[in-house]
Amino acid sequence: MIEAGRRLFAGECHFTWGATKIGDLPPPALPEVAFAGRSNVGKSSLVNALTGRTTLARVSNTPGRTQQLNFFDLAGRLTLVDLPGYGFAKVSKDKVAQWVNLTETYLAGRPNLKRVLVLIDSRHGVKPPDTAAMKLLDQSAVSYQVVLTKTDKLTPGQLAAMTKTVATAIRAHVAAHPVIMPTSSETGAGVPELRAALAALGKPADVS
Ligand code: GDP
Repeated sequence: MIEAGRRLFAGECHFTWGATKIGDLPPPALPEVAFAGRSNVGKSSLVNALTGRTTLARVSNTPGRTQQLNFFDLAGRLTLVDLPGYGFAKVSKDKVAQWVNLTETYLAGRPNLKRVLVLIDSRHGVKPPDTAAMKLLDQSAVSYQVVLTKTDKLTPGQLAAMTKTVATAIRAHVAAHPVIMPTSSETGAGVPELRAALAALGKPADVS
């Protein structure tokens, strides 16, 4: 399993599409996995750690392009989708509505979407914007899984306690996968395991 993940993520990965508005989404093709989380949760870092590239997800951080859905083709077997970060402290109501609109439209019409990874900062746990995002996912009937980020900032004891707290918080959410994945883009902890989980959702490798 770990090997299958390593192989998939060793493949070619490139940016294929940036969607800024409804009606601008690429046609559904490969199995898709989307990354969601509050701004600054470590989403770009995690996408880069998974793919072993340092610049891949930078496009999502370009100022003024934060409301963009970015699509990446991974080895012709899986599409990674970087959803715009949500829950910026001083973001306007308009911006929130825009996120919900674009994201909701994407989530509602994506038959090839296998899973959404909801990234939660392991130091902070589930915050109100995360709960709102998970409610939206529940309503859209999209299965999702919580990935804890920045676990290098915690002691093993703190991480165990936070995992328990988050597990309790997501129990009420019908579409949440019960397994919580701890990761650190800084140390690479949990990255091979996450790659393996994603490989299981992608198109199988060509048997040669
Ligand atoms: P995004 O806004 O969700 O894309 O977040 P970024 O990937 O840009 O990361 C936000 C900040 O958190 C940056 O300063 C990163 O260096 C830091 N960061 C991201 N991942 C980790 C991690 O695994 N460990 C630590 N210690 N810091 C991280």
